[in-house]
Amino acid sequence: MIIGIYPGSFDPVTLGHLDIIKRSAKMVDKLIIGVLNNSSKHPLFSVEERVEMIKTVTKDLENVSVEAFDGLTVDFAKKRNATVMVRGLRAVTDFEYEIQIAQTNHAIMPEIDTIFLTTSVQYSYLSSSIVKEVASYGGDIEKFVPESILPAVLSKFKAIRRV
Ligand code: ADP
Repeated sequence: MIIGIYPGSFDPVTLGHLDIIKRSAKMVDKLIIGVLNNSSKHPLFSVEERVEMIKTVTKDLENVSVEAFDGLTVDFAKKRNATVMVRGLRAVTDFEYEIQIAQTNHAIMPEIDTIFLTTSVQYSYLSSSIVKEVASYGGDIEKFVPESILPAVLSKFKAIRRV
């Protein structure tokens, strides 16, 4: 049984993330999406909100589950008996950061390997930051996030504008 972990901030989950989730879920028996509870990154959405949104968009994917975690990703992976870590690559800029993390993780825990999926071209520009930037100016984010979580994302920005 191959268990994979797809860790990230998912602040919020985008169509680019969902694409990686769907493709990697076909490669493993079980895929656990690990939502990093890292306050130093000052996420816009609480970890509970991020987990909830991913659960909504993955509800039809039978071998996918979602959990929050904190601490080292490799420790979380080991606790869940995962041997594969999934990450997405959009551009050369991702590569430098990702290779450093993957090599560090491998040095700490050689039994866990990172696999990289290259982004589907239509999502190569897409990031959670872009979604937040566009939404904060009232722009249309329909093309960026899964339809089922659009109301949750928009209501967060409405709440912020009211403050
Ligand atoms: P992190 O803070 O760990 O980088 P993110 O939520 O930004 O968390 O990203 C999680 C993973 O998803 C990373 O490997 C990132 O490269 C990948 N990713 C993000 N957006 C896309 C996209 N549009 N296409 C492919 N991979 C993506």
